[in-house]
Amino acid sequence: MSVNHSLLWKEVQQKLKGELPKSTFETWFGELRPQPSSNGDFRLAAPNGFIKRGLERNYLDLIEECLVESSEDVKEVSIEVREMKSSTESGSQTTPVEPSTKEQTTSSSPTQKNQSSDQSKIPLNKEYTFDNFVQGKGNQLAFAASQAAAESPAQAYNPLFIYANVGLGKTHLLHAVGNYLKHHLDTVGEAQVTYTTSERFAIEMIQAIRKNKTEEFRKQYRSVDGFLLDDVQFLQNKEGTQEELFHTFNELYGNGKQIVLTSDRPPDELSDLQNRLVSRFRWGLVADIQPPNFETRMAILRKKANQKGIQVSDSVLELIAKRITSNVRALEGALIKAVARADLANTELGQEDLEPFLPDKDADHNKQLTVDVIKKEVANNYDLTCEDLEGSSRKQEVAQARHIAIYLAREMTDSSFPALGEKFGGRDHSTVMHSHRKINEMIDETPLFYEEIKEIEQHLRSTYE
Ligand code: ADP
Ligand code: MG
Repeated sequence: MSVNHSLLWKEVQQKLKGELPKSTFETWFGELRPQPSSNGDFRLAAPNGFIKRGLERNYLDLIEECLVESSEDVKEVSIEVREMKSSTESGSQTTPVEPSTKEQTTSSSPTQKNQSSDQSKIPLNKEYTFDNFVQGKGNQLAFAASQAAAESPAQAYNPLFIYANVGLGKTHLLHAVGNYLKHHLDTVGEAQVTYTTSERFAIEMIQAIRKNKTEEFRKQYRSVDGFLLDDVQFLQNKEGTQEELFHTFNELYGNGKQIVLTSDRPPDELSDLQNRLVSRFRWGLVADIQPPNFETRMAILRKKANQKGIQVSDSVLELIAKRITSNVRALEGALIKAVARADLANTELGQEDLEPFLPDKDADHNKQLTVDVIKKEVANNYDLTCEDLEGSSRKQEVAQARHIAIYLAREMTDSSFPALGEKFGGRDHSTVMHSHRKINEMIDETPLFYEEIKEIEQHLRSTYE
């Protein structure tokens, strides 16, 4: 083996450091370690599945590029989860679950990938169709408008802007529009439909500038028949990317191409986006999605169970639908975890299989949201104890969970920084302020991290007063 992986990784880390904001680098790359490997493989070990998935979704291309630049011997890059000292299943309720994501090591070959920019595009998820989307009161308008935009592109609503909290079906609807356009649009050859996230759009733009390929980048986005952009809230404070999107928007709109955008908030609340961009977002139709009511939750669970060939009794579905109210992804996640557990135990799925995955019983509802409760829930979420959060360990996973608990405690209770310092093992108020600031920065810079925090926050809000 001619490549010294450690040295090579050091070099690549330096490059990445130069390209990314510091907190982004630390979050995603700080804990990555090269693994022994041969034959042009380059294996990286991530500390957990969350980091692995985030890297694969957003940074794999960049890593590959930097590696290939530094060594011609590297042919294939893969990311895996580092073996931990047996962190047993936690039964935690708020761990972000992404049922459709496979946990196996995924890899890609840079040499193949670079041949066509098309291959680096995010593929449409074939499962996310209109047929698989359950209509309900809360999503009626967004659903009908998405269908109309897909059936009469650029004529019904252009752009269509959908906003909702996490886990309520925005991404699903975007893909549904994409899948429909792909199969029905009357074009010469296959319709060109691009789905991307705003973070990905920003990263690709940076890469294009770096490689002097801005023309190609522009062409790629400005020549499509349908443009689906997910999570535009992450363009806040990204001036250059907003500028680029503004021109992309104008060109597509001018050429009568359909544009669909999503966000976690309405256009008016995208306060750090350029006005001219926000005003364009409002040109067509703005539709929101509200959390599903009980009937819709039941219908969604039935549909998901059906799709996955899972046999479950109505009483089990009812229990899940009663306890999980504000997030469809969590609804689906609870079902899948429970089924997996019943499968392992080789038993029929019963209520007792579900308890560990469901938020506390009704009896616990309306408990007061205190700093102690937040500490407990955050510790639980990361397989740690409250003592870990109060203690002085500097291990990354402990320190980060501590920052998160402090951040949420500050945001969700009336506690002052000095009072929080007391609650977190007698820390100085400036230390606590630092934690709060750090999480704020990470939220600004890293969409996945933001989602994670939001899920914990939503869980806390739905369980406590
Ligand atoms: P968001 O992008 O708003 O965070 P997603 O589109 O990723 O949410 O949805 C999360 C999960 O919930 C997906 O698996 C999606 O299929 C499912 N989902 C959400 N709403 C519905 C619905 N009305 N019918 C069926 N599945 C849904
Ligand atoms: Mg989404």
